Amino acid sequence: MSRVLIIGCGGVGSVVAHKCAQVPDVFTDIMIASRTKANCDALAAQLQVSAKTAAVDADNVPQLVKLLKKFKPDLVINVALPYQDLHIMDACLEAGVDYLDTANYEPLDTAKFEYKWQWAYQTKFKKAGLMALLGSGFDPGVTSVYTTWIRKHFIPQIEEIDIVDCNAGNHGHPFATNFNPEINIREVTAKGRYWKEGKWVETPPLSVNQSFEMPENLGTLNTYLMYHEELESLGKHIKGLKSARFWMSFSDNYLKHLEVLGNVGMTRIDPVKFNGVEIVPIQFLKALLPDPASLGPRTKGKTCIGVQAKGGGKTVYVYNVCDHEECYKEVRSQAISYTTGVPAMIGAKMMLTGKWRGTGVFNMEQFDPDPFMAALELHGLPAKVIRKKVFNTPKGL
Ligand code: NDP
Repeated sequence: MSRVLIIGCGGVGSVVAHKCAQVPDVFTDIMIASRTKANCDALAAQLQVSAKTAAVDADNVPQLVKLLKKFKPDLVINVALPYQDLHIMDACLEAGVDYLDTANYEPLDTAKFEYKWQWAYQTKFKKAGLMALLGSGFDPGVTSVYTTWIRKHFIPQIEEIDIVDCNAGNHGHPFATNFNPEINIREVTAKGRYWKEGKWVETPPLSVNQSFEMPENLGTLNTYLMYHEELESLGKHIKGLKSARFWMSFSDNYLKHLEVLGNVGMTRIDPVKFNGVEIVPIQFLKALLPDPASLGPRTKGKTCIGVQAKGGGKTVYVYNVCDHEECYKEVRSQAISYTTGVPAMIGAKMMLTGKWRGTGVFNMEQFDPDPFMAALELHGLPAKVIRKKVFNTPKGL
């Protein structure tokens, strides 16, 4: 019997709500809250169980605390934007509620994400006897679970990991992003960074690439070296790890649009004066681009996200393939939102059923991967294993 408050009602929030509604023995009372209540009401109307809704500005801590004290949830699932993470954590501390999110805090005015801001809440959560689980999406999230599962069952001393995130889907638009455009473009245009021998190595944005022949005849895609937040937590928590890299696929068409948008200043995150008002170009661009939640009915093809780990002379690759159209049939969302929302629900289930418990702030790789892997199988994201090298890292990295 648990009460859960889902904050954020976009592409990911919608999947979280659908998936929580499918597990009524754990999630007995659901509330969906977001800035725009009409979106929450429309989502609640799609669910097979009844869910409450509320309007909340998640940047307003007193407003959040008031809502938490009124609804009295056991857990907040934060699937709003990374900018809100610290405010929601503050409100959880004040109201005495556990916390979960899927994305690292990022300051609005600096396109940079690091765990330091959220890790700084460790003592506060511990003292309050509360638990915060960070990054329970797919990447970050399942990628850490895959890593610890490989360590537990195949390679006790992992030395090297490559996380490879491929989307072989097509939504038919000339240019659109699969999750929040502002967050997506800030992430993709940032400098690349990978972990080597305990240090970070920086590369210019999208300057290192590698083609990847995906399993199951899904085709070959070009993947690009990027910084991703789980590299930081895995570097800290996986003892003996010598190198960790993150790769994401992008089509030439996506990169061509991104380059032009960047060249003309449309991806800037600082305010500019226009007709006497200040606008932030990337926020204006977001208003012009298709809403990621609208891509569901038109996206075809599959995603393939996995982790290749090496150590002790062995290489193991664990991955999931997810079909955009199947996701839409089940929860009216495409696979990017689905692969994020399902692990968010599972992380919540792990916390609420006591399978993953503790006081303080935790990353995904700090818990036993087995119950999470079993839940992935049960709730729509089964993993597969290939016991050999499938991804070739470019020489010199
Ligand atoms: P969307 O933009 O589709 O949805 C964001 C939601 O948050 C909207 O409902 C929005 O409300 C709401 N929101 C924004 N600001 C506030 C606020 N101040 N107060 C209350 N609600 C607010 O984003 P996505 O669903 O695509 O992404 C959600 C999160 O998931 C992001 O943090 C993203 O980084 C993360 N993510 C994680 C992944 C992973 O694998 N770990 C992968 C993909 C995404 P409104 O509609 O009114 O603007």
